[in-house]
Amino acid sequence: MTSKKNDPSSRIFDLLQFGEFGDVNPSITDSATYTFLQAHTMSDTFAGLQEGCYLYSRHWNPSNKYLADALAAMEGTESAWVTASGMAAITCAILQQVSTGDHIVCSMTTYGGTFAFLYNYIKKFNIAVTFVDISKLDEVEKAIRPNTKIIYTETMTNPLLQISDIPALAKIADNHGIKLVVDNTFTPLIVSPALHGAHIVVHSMTKFINGKNDCVAGAICSTKEFIDALCDVNSGTAMLLGPALDPLRSSSILKNLHTLHIRMKQHSKNAQYLAERFREAGLKTIYPGFEDHKGHEVMRKMMNEEFGFGGMIAIDLGTSERASRLMEKMETEGVGYLAVSLGYFKTLFSNSGKSTSSEIPEDIQQEMGLSEGLIRFSVGLDNDIERTWGKIITSLESCK
Ligand SMILES: *Cc1c(COP(=O)(O)O)cnc(C)c1O
Repeated sequence: MTSKKNDPSSRIFDLLQFGEFGDVNPSITDSATYTFLQAHTMSDTFAGLQEGCYLYSRHWNPSNKYLADALAAMEGTESAWVTASGMAAITCAILQQVSTGDHIVCSMTTYGGTFAFLYNYIKKFNIAVTFVDISKLDEVEKAIRPNTKIIYTETMTNPLLQISDIPALAKIADNHGIKLVVDNTFTPLIVSPALHGAHIVVHSMTKFINGKNDCVAGAICSTKEFIDALCDVNSGTAMLLGPALDPLRSSSILKNLHTLHIRMKQHSKNAQYLAERFREAGLKTIYPGFEDHKGHEVMRKMMNEEFGFGGMIAIDLGTSERASRLMEKMETEGVGYLAVSLGYFKTLFSNSGKSTSSEIPEDIQQEMGLSEGLIRFSVGLDNDIERTWGKIITSLESCK
C-alpha cells in the first residue's frame, strides 16, 4: 500500500514524546512556576533568549507543549498554543492582529460566540467588521479595505454547513498582504486549512478533538513567529490576557487526540447514513456529503477523503414548535441528548436559532438562511446507526 499524501493522523502518530521517566503518557507538570539554578538563565528566559526553559505556566507548561506540538503536527503548522477555551483561541488570535481603526472581513455564518465578539464586543476598540457570504469570493474581495487585516471564516460554517474555499480565500488574503484565519472545529483531520494556505488555524478542542464533553479548551496553530508573538511577555495577547489551559486537561486531551482518526471516521459514516435517511424521508436536509450540496466540490478538493464529510447534519422542521417536539421525543426515545455543543460520543441536537446562534439578531438569521425550525445534529459514535434511525422514525411519526 502506498502512503497517503496528507495524513494528519500519521503526523500525530509519528511524534515521539518520551516522558521524563520513559512514561508513555508524559507526566503532568503540576507546577505554576519553575526553578532556575543560575540567575542569568532566568533573565535570559525572560528576554526570550533561552530556548527550552520554562518560566511560568501562563506562558508555557511542558504538558501544554506536548499537546501543542501534537496539534501543530496535525495541522501541519510550525507551532501551536493551547487555550482554556475555543473562544479564548479565537479572540486572542484576532486581537493579536488588529489595532484601533482596523477592519475585519468575516463570514456571515459563524459560531454564535464568534459572531457576538465581532458584532458587539470588538466595536469598543473601534474595529469595524464586514460580514459577507463567504462562498461568494467576489463579495469577499469587494469587502476588503486598505485597513483590512483579517479574513475570518470556518472551514465548515456553523450551523448551516457552508464550505469555505480555503485555497481561494488564502489567495485573496495573500494578494492583499492580510491574514486568513480559519476555525477548523467541525473538521479536524478532514481538512488541514494551513496546508491550503490559511495563515492561522483555530480550534475549539471542546468538540471533536477532545470528544468527551468533560472540559472546554482551544488551540491556535500557526507559524513559530505568530505563536511566539502571541506568547511574548511584553506584547503577546495570549500571555497578557492569560487564558492558559490547565496542564491536567492538556494531558487528558492529548490522550483523546490519539483516537481522533477512528472517531472522525465513525462520526462521518453515521452522519452520512442519517443524512441520507432524513432526505429519503422527505425532510429538508443539509449535509456536505450530498453531491448537490453547494460546497460539496470545494470540500472534495480540500479534504482528506478517508475521514468523510464530518459528523454534522442540519434538518429543517419548518417551525420551532415542531423542532422542539421532535427533539424532546428523540431524547426520550434515546437517540441522544437535547444539548448544545458537538463532537461528543453520543448524538447531540439543538435548535440553532434558539440556542447556539441566538446571539445573531433574527433579521440576520433570516438573511443567512437560518430557519427557526433548523435542528443541528452532531452525530455520535453509535455502533448500530440503523437502530438509531429506527428511534428517529418513531420520533418523527409522533410529531407529524
Ligand atoms: C464551540 C465552538 C467555538 C467556541 O469554543 P468554546 O470551547 O466553547 O469556547 C468556536 N467555534 C466553533 C465552530 C464552535 O463550535
